[in-house]
Amino acid sequence: MTNDQITGRAALFKRYALRAETRDFLAEAKSLWLDGRWQHAEGGRTFAVEDPASGVTIANVAEASAADVGLAVAAARRAFESGPWPKLRPRDRERLLTTLAELVEADMETLAELETLDNGKPLSEARDDIAGAVDYLRYLAGWATKLDGGVKTIGVPGSFAYTRLEPVGVVGAIVPWNFPFSMALWKIAPCLATGCTVVLKPAEQTPLTALRLAELIEAAGYPAGVVNIVTGVGPVAGAALVSNPDVDKIAFTGSTRVGREIGAEATRRLARVTLELGGKSPVLVFDDADVDAAIAGACNAIFYNQGQVCTAGSRLYVHKSRYREVVDAVASYADSLELNHGFADGVGMGPLVSAAQRATVERYIDIAEAEGAVRLTRARKLPEAGHFVAPTVFADVKPGMRCVEEEIFGPVLVCASFDTDEEAIELANATRYGLAASVWTRSLSRAHSVSAAVRAGTVWVNNHWVVDPAMPFGGVGQSGVGRELGREQLDAYLETKSVTMLL
Ligand code: NAP
Ligand code: MG
Repeated sequence: MTNDQITGRAALFKRYALRAETRDFLAEAKSLWLDGRWQHAEGGRTFAVEDPASGVTIANVAEASAADVGLAVAAARRAFESGPWPKLRPRDRERLLTTLAELVEADMETLAELETLDNGKPLSEARDDIAGAVDYLRYLAGWATKLDGGVKTIGVPGSFAYTRLEPVGVVGAIVPWNFPFSMALWKIAPCLATGCTVVLKPAEQTPLTALRLAELIEAAGYPAGVVNIVTGVGPVAGAALVSNPDVDKIAFTGSTRVGREIGAEATRRLARVTLELGGKSPVLVFDDADVDAAIAGACNAIFYNQGQVCTAGSRLYVHKSRYREVVDAVASYADSLELNHGFADGVGMGPLVSAAQRATVERYIDIAEAEGAVRLTRARKLPEAGHFVAPTVFADVKPGMRCVEEEIFGPVLVCASFDTDEEAIELANATRYGLAASVWTRSLSRAHSVSAAVRAGTVWVNNHWVVDPAMPFGGVGQSGVGRELGREQLDAYLETKSVTMLL
């Protein structure tokens, strides 16, 4: 960093009143966490990380080359095949996961500040992310000692048959920038519970909390090479991870476009693969709903994390008897949200993660207007620096419009009304995606029948947010392949071996 950059950064950190721990962490350029050591990238290459609320450079981090990724995979392979990791008892893996949970919990404030600084989200939301990650680590710690195969009854007399669950091997994990810390742990923790080893590539926009996590993994005492964290860019470091024949399984969260390419490459070389991709999730408000709860839920569903949520409730369908009331209330909430940097008191929404993401979302707003969608929210003055977009609500949209069909991944909501339950279900299912949906009703039978009829990996009734470590999470259709969370996530990290003995 130049002297001017360092001065600008110091002024920014003062304005945000960052804690000393956070400032200390950012004081030095960040290396790769590779084979249990901090190592420079090949040729000393680095890239700049910016604060999306100001555009100020906040850190320089190592930019891994394909060769660096190869070293990380080789370290993960060694750790999987030999050394202390394969010999660790399940209860020791449990203990290490519990230790990591405690270290993350103790570091919550620093991690939350780094997440807000890197991603732009309000600090309270960043705290929620870290707290959720602690719960998740504790949940997985419990699984480490409960990975049982089973005795089988087979049709061969004088035999004994059973199954063993064995770790799949080296995992290549690639995550996006919207929930950087949670997404990193959703990939790393199941490896630690099942006995796999892992190389993680964070998103280039948000590498900081993954690097802080590496420090905590170092402090927890994991053997070298079990977790490797390589920062870098997708087409270089990410692609090198996906194509490496020593990577047994790819775990990817990101866009459907990149997921499709990764899935094709993994299938070509017969690697295991799970894909958590995009969505265009519907919020269905029926005439018998608790309307105030539905309005609050619909607002949270689209404006949380600036709308950069794979399960964002980005299509709002309301029964015609309550339509006007609901969409007007959501629009007026949007207009009331205070746009500011994530550390400000009373901030309602932060900036989008990058100039590129802002440009994408602005383009979709133009498209919606050109398509004839009716804008309910006001134009407003945006903060001068940073990648801010005004929360935007469009009414009276029609099936087939691009703003209805395509994932925008920002604070833009499209709304329409329906008459019958059948019509609501038809609208909900008129999408290539299938990640989530929410159903707002007081009728028990309607709650069950609509939940069954909607094509999605998750259906929420009278909420649009409960993500619990015990509940499987993932999509159908273009929203992905496989499940994270719950017992179900472990299937992707384990192979079943059948042992059949003649006595
Ligand atoms: P993205 O462009 O697909 O990037 C995701 C990750 O893939 C990043 O780490 C990226 O690296 C990497 N990558 C890019 N090109 C690659 C390549 N050719 N080979 C290997 N890796 C590559 O997605 P994004 O824009 O960051 O994230 C937004 C998308 O993620 C949205 O569509 C959203 O719905 C989806 N998402 C889904 C879930 C879910 O659980 N279903 C959760 C969160 C987000 P760089 O960024 O470093 O270049
Ligand atoms: Mg950033």
